[in-house]
Amino acid sequence: MRLVLLGLPGAGKGTVAETLVATYGAAHVSSGDLLRAAVADGTDLGVKAKAFMDAGDLVPDDLVVAMVVERLAADDCRAGFLLDGFPRTEVQAEALDAALAEHDASLDGVLYLAVDAEVVIGRLTARRTCADCGRVYNVVTLKPAVEGVCDACSGRLIVRPDDEPETVRQRIEVYGRQTMSLVTYYDDRGLLIRVDADTTVDAVRSAAVAAVAGLASAG
Ligand code: AMP
Repeated sequence: MRLVLLGLPGAGKGTVAETLVATYGAAHVSSGDLLRAAVADGTDLGVKAKAFMDAGDLVPDDLVVAMVVERLAADDCRAGFLLDGFPRTEVQAEALDAALAEHDASLDGVLYLAVDAEVVIGRLTARRTCADCGRVYNVVTLKPAVEGVCDACSGRLIVRPDDEPETVRQRIEVYGRQTMSLVTYYDDRGLLIRVDADTTVDAVRSAAVAAVAGLASAG
């Protein structure tokens, strides 16, 4: 199963990916997580990417494409992958198509988590992220068992710098300008599956699992 998860920051891509990975055993490839790891490790890529990320802007295509294509070549992606946060521009979408075509492969589908911008502003400013393992919570809808502490690893829960309200608005504006056109890009190719992501976490998870099950039985 080779899937792309598309949707505004805060639409629920990470949560849906977690569920689908558990169901299908595909590798979860999050460009945001890979970039945050590069920043934390102080690699060349991390140093170059940090300023763009802190400002809520996109990291340049060439850097992100090289990083993701390398990740997709890893063994655990052979059984399939769920791309989360990539592609975000048409240049990236075309580079992904080309990289897959080199291995006679193509995408099985693109799950578009459709959500209102106002809803994601509320979600992202309520989001807390584990400083150690990156697991995501929400102070309203997805609370940890103990406030401020990660259920999975007992790490400290923080507000990601780019989840600050000012940066959230910038990320949504950037999405509308640079990423939204991918909905048409994939719809034109017959790959887009729309999932209503304005509802509860459980409803979005179930709708995503049902959509992918439909794909699996069709394919
Ligand atoms: P995310 O966790 O997917 O919301 O990504 C966090 C930040 O990483 C974004 O606001 C961008 O600065 C950067 N980023 C992640 N994925 C990409 C991508 N595909 N292209 C460019 N920048 C990206």
